Amino acid sequence: MVVGEVATATEVLVIGGGPGGYAAAIRAAQLGRQVTLIERDRIGGTCLNVGCIPSKVFIHAAELAHLPTTSDGTGVSVTASVDLPVLQDHMRSVVGGLTGGVGDLLAAAEVNVITGTARFSRANRVAVVSDDSVQHIEFDQAILATGSRPIEIPSLPFSDSRILDSTAALFDLTEIPGSLAVVGGGYIGVELGTAWAKLGVAVTIVETEDALLPGLDKRLGRSVNRRLKELGIAVLLNTTATAMTSDGLAVTTAQGDNTVVAADYTVVCVGRRPNTDDLGLEMTDVTPDERGLPPVDGGRRAGQRILAIGDITAGPALAHKATAEAEVAARTAAGLPASFDPACIPAVVFSDPEVATVGYTATEAKAAGIAATTSVFPIGASARARTLSSATGQVELVSDDVGTIIGVHIAGPLASELIGEAALAIEMAATTEDLAATIHAHPTMSEALLEAAHGALGLPLHMVKKR
Ligand code: FAD
Repeated sequence: MVVGEVATATEVLVIGGGPGGYAAAIRAAQLGRQVTLIERDRIGGTCLNVGCIPSKVFIHAAELAHLPTTSDGTGVSVTASVDLPVLQDHMRSVVGGLTGGVGDLLAAAEVNVITGTARFSRANRVAVVSDDSVQHIEFDQAILATGSRPIEIPSLPFSDSRILDSTAALFDLTEIPGSLAVVGGGYIGVELGTAWAKLGVAVTIVETEDALLPGLDKRLGRSVNRRLKELGIAVLLNTTATAMTSDGLAVTTAQGDNTVVAADYTVVCVGRRPNTDDLGLEMTDVTPDERGLPPVDGGRRAGQRILAIGDITAGPALAHKATAEAEVAARTAAGLPASFDPACIPAVVFSDPEVATVGYTATEAKAAGIAATTSVFPIGASARARTLSSATGQVELVSDDVGTIIGVHIAGPLASELIGEAALAIEMAATTEDLAATIHAHPTMSEALLEAAHGALGLPLHMVKKR
């Protein structure tokens, strides 16, 4: 410690202003704590500034640009052209509206927001470095919500202007490229690859595993794969990207062949690394595991005075998980009983068709020793899907031996919206009978859930009953 260093005090210190950190700060303030939030970049974190929000604006715009090819048969003819810089300005404006709103909420909750980079200098103190100053803050409780950053492949460095992370792929290109390789077939790679293809780019997705969207139920993956093919996206599985050359992306295929994929740019989306390595955690009693994730208890406590939430902790790296953990951490920091113990966490891929999943798949249920049954309702039998000119996908409803719903997996239009009802059903331990007895409005996609429940009870209505 520097002699004469004076620290200001706060009851709850939050480091990181993403969907974990800002939610924790607002909630802790609402619970009567005096709260200071430190953010080194922009309030809203990855999700609002460069992740969930701009990527969904981009996907929506790509969908509009693609309309001329999907309006067949409706009698509507559409032409589209895309002005990429205008689209990027629009993304910035949507982001700005939302982050401005979060700033207003923090101000209304009387959270003291400081711009700077926080680092622990003692077990109960951080130094916050900004452009022209260092200030010291002592805390009773600290909530770490520092999020994650893209993993860089050494042979494909982001310092090469043709190699982009997801942020650069959204914001940095000044014109629509002719060809693009996407390295990594997880949800970010599939979402961005699909959107760029709809903007007319020749896209190749390169994945080292034997399937895209690893971890996802194979049947759901099939619906997405079929559509990727229709969009002309080349998918190279069991293939490793090795280097960017003047001709494109060099890869080694499953057969061991070295070849080059046409690519003006390569987007690398191979996962994210937690931002815990430069926090000075060695000054505290928090010890991250070998992946850099601090272990936490149910109340999100990672040390005597320190809690951790969001992408820096185990579990899916998703914004809604971070926010749900923030609720728990804020209560714990305020001295109230709380535990993060959700029955399920939904996940959505904004692919085409959308894919949404919550709870056990049939395979996971089997592995867990649960006697589960799966009812499948094809989206093609949904009246609402037909009105939307969409017939691809299905709803899979997994229930246990007494009919309790334990998993729902959807590929199809508005899957991202349908999954909320499914998560509620699982959280409330609803049964297939409960779901079947709930009247769903017609014609809506939600009826596909109802139909899957009827199927689970052996009484399908809009499907032929198997004898
Ligand atoms: P972050 O949002 O990463 O926020 C952490 C904040 O901490 C950052 O603002 C950072 O600047 C700040 N920080 C870090 N270190 C310090 C320090 N030492 N001092 C001060 N500040 C610091 N999730 C979804 O649920 N749905 C989606 O559709 C979705 N789409 C995505 C699309 C893309 C392209 C990407 C990249 C991510 C997407 N995600 C999505 C993931 C989602 O963005 C993250 O899971 C979420 O942002 C994690 O929230 P967080 O609060 O843990 O961290």
